[in-house]
Amino acid sequence: MQILEKNLQFKKQTRARTETNRVIIHHSASHDVGVETIHQWHLDRGWHGIGYHFCIRKNGDIERGRDEATVGAHAGKSGNHDSIGVCLLGNYEEEAPTDAQMNSLVWLIKEYLTPKYGVLEVQGHNEFMSTACPGKKFPWDDLERRLKMPAVPEWKTSAIDYLAEEGLLNDPEYWKERIDDVPPVWALFIMMERIYKAAKGVE
Ligand SMILES: [Zn+2]
Repeated sequence: MQILEKNLQFKKQTRARTETNRVIIHHSASHDVGVETIHQWHLDRGWHGIGYHFCIRKNGDIERGRDEATVGAHAGKSGNHDSIGVCLLGNYEEEAPTDAQMNSLVWLIKEYLTPKYGVLEVQGHNEFMSTACPGKKFPWDDLERRLKMPAVPEWKTSAIDYLAEEGLLNDPEYWKERIDDVPPVWALFIMMERIYKAAKGVE
């Protein structure tokens, strides 16, 4: 996974952030738009530019907004000064985020932010201000469970990713969560038999 750099132009240099203790989650309460659009919305409000550091599209794309090293504009004075603001596109009063969005969010926190800043608290916008954001359908339990799971090394999951890309697996995340489960011996040999027959070209 990667972060898509958008190089947005800000009206003024945003202030450097001296502390990073938390990630604050938002929903956009809108349809699926890119950071360029949200940047324009926030400029129209008279801000320096987009208030969030990252946005996550419905297809799972992670787009960079405001410079990660600076103070965001997304959760008021008490929330902004020591946080990274992440906005998921969609309205989670009405629907849940997509699987792709949640996978990207977990990756962003676990694989990208945690190695840089250490373990961060993950909170909703509504813990800092009177708002519904990120919406009553945001899956907090699922997110907490996934953030607690130990990181799985790449070599254990690369076959799953390959088979999913080839269309042989529907739900790679399901299998990744069970990556260390033990299959019964018969399953192993049936699989070997099938692969052998396929390679040999027999039914
Ligand atoms: Zn919000």
